[in-house]
Amino acid sequence: MRDLVKNTTKTAVFALGGLGEVGKNMYCIEHGGSIIILDSGVMFGDEYLPGVDYILPDYSYLIEHADKVKALFITHGHEDHIGGIPFLLKSINIPCIYAPKLACAFIRNKLEEQKMERRTKIIEIDDNSVIKEDVFVVSFFSTTHSIPDSFGIIVNTPNGNVVSTGDFKIDLTPVGKDIDLLKITKLQETGVTLLLSESTNIEVKGHTLSEKAVISSIHDVFRNATGRIIIGTFSSNVHRIQQIIEAAVLFKRKILVFGRSMEKNIQLSRQLGYIKCPDNYFISPEMANTLRPDEILIFCTGTQGESMAALSRIAANQHKHVKPMPGDVVVFSSSAIPGNTANINKLINQLSRHGVTVLTNSVLSNLHTSGHAAREELKLMLKLIKPDYLMPIHGEYRMLRMHAELAQELGMKKDHTFVLANGDVLYMDKGTVELADARIQADDVYVDGHDINGISTAVIKDRKLLSNDGLVAVLVSIDSKNNRLLTSPSVLSRGFIYIKENGQLIREIEKLADQTLNELFAKGKLTFLEIKNTIRNTVSTFIYRKTRRNPMVIPVIMNKVEYNADNFSFVKKETRRKKSSTATVEEE
Ligand SMILES: [Zn+2]
Ligand SMILES: [Zn+2]
Repeated sequence: MRDLVKNTTKTAVFALGGLGEVGKNMYCIEHGGSIIILDSGVMFGDEYLPGVDYILPDYSYLIEHADKVKALFITHGHEDHIGGIPFLLKSINIPCIYAPKLACAFIRNKLEEQKMERRTKIIEIDDNSVIKEDVFVVSFFSTTHSIPDSFGIIVNTPNGNVVSTGDFKIDLTPVGKDIDLLKITKLQETGVTLLLSESTNIEVKGHTLSEKAVISSIHDVFRNATGRIIIGTFSSNVHRIQQIIEAAVLFKRKILVFGRSMEKNIQLSRQLGYIKCPDNYFISPEMANTLRPDEILIFCTGTQGESMAALSRIAANQHKHVKPMPGDVVVFSSSAIPGNTANINKLINQLSRHGVTVLTNSVLSNLHTSGHAAREELKLMLKLIKPDYLMPIHGEYRMLRMHAELAQELGMKKDHTFVLANGDVLYMDKGTVELADARIQADDVYVDGHDINGISTAVIKDRKLLSNDGLVAVLVSIDSKNNRLLTSPSVLSRGFIYIKENGQLIREIEKLADQTLNELFAKGKLTFLEIKNTIRNTVSTFIYRKTRRNPMVIPVIMNKVEYNADNFSFVKKETRRKKSSTATVEEE
């Protein structure tokens, strides 16, 4: 990919992730010989991407221009902003990562787990930090969000100021630090050329509920519960956890913590002073056995119905220490991430079957609030900053578009709003911004486990086929020397329902394969590849016509091996290893 800013004095701004999606945020600013990156997130796979653990941005452009990358700046410690860092560091060298205190702790922890802590320098920033990286001067303003230590970023470039809000809401009664409305308003004085503002809750009217509003509902739960209280929440929502812990102390309940991320985050947050609680309130499962149910609070992970998480294991009666029982109150202090609703409902049903009372966020009880700005707050942010141009970020396409329309309602010209896709490039030139002709590669990269190389889309397609329609194997025995079928082909299937119900269909497929191959053999010598392709094409078409299903068709070809004196020893060895002595098996 060519250099975006070669032979020009313009500044390029583009996203490698975060546009058209809520996840894997990664925004880049390039000028002359320098690139700085704002955030480096991941997205998680869902049921539409079987076996995919993470989705990453495509780092190709950065790899090609690796010598230009000066620094990475982090707005806050959520996975969609920091989760890509280990993968990015495996791809390119980043001299410095600047991040708020809590995010620094999370990043260090991540890199230590991967034994990568020496790959980069992690530097803590706060409201007063001003960092100069070549032509860029970067500073920060505090915001309120569902994790402590969230910041917006101000980047002074040779062609104007770029501001990213990061994730925010305007919480006037926050649990932690206030949003710095004064600094935000003062941005008008120097002028903001381009604002990147988050769009997650653009579809929500009014204002997002304050974090403080949640706690009175949580107190009601503590007041009324007669059995154990089990609370599931996002493990990074440190303020929420702190408030619940304070309630536990107030209502004299001892605390158990289950789930790796929850244990880790509580431990880190206590070390850093974000969570304060007397030591003796945290107990072991063994100690819990000596207490009454109404003296116990259990924190756990798994509010999205993740099958391996603590909450799912409790619901399935498979948790080592917690068996669900009548009287237990399970609180989902969380919201459903789109796509997880079915799993969450399954979890709630399972818990209810054990006689457990399940409480979720509803209009009647404020057990959760979002960390993202609703419509009126997004308006306020636009009014306070008064940018010349807006590029909505952190949202699916319709959200980005609604955000652009919102800015137009507030008087911004339509051609000053940019609803873009990952890989689109904006050029800033002395205070003006326009869409460039250039586009850079910014596809999704799928990761299974921790392998940065990614999985190809072909693998994903195979997995989808298998999970939707199952597999049909066609076993063909041939005698390649004499160019003929040894026996009639036979069909096996896994996960393809129609076959079990319909022996007739199997016989038809076998007959079809037999006929087609015999005709082919009659025409002349065949290669393995020809046999395979013929089977795959004819059988797939036939099955689709009969059933409207597309199972994966796998031809398995067994070739006859001649016994003779010359290769007897070879055959004997083979016989010991595989029982089928007459065949060499060739598979996909
Ligand atoms: Zn985010
Ligand atoms: Zn966030």
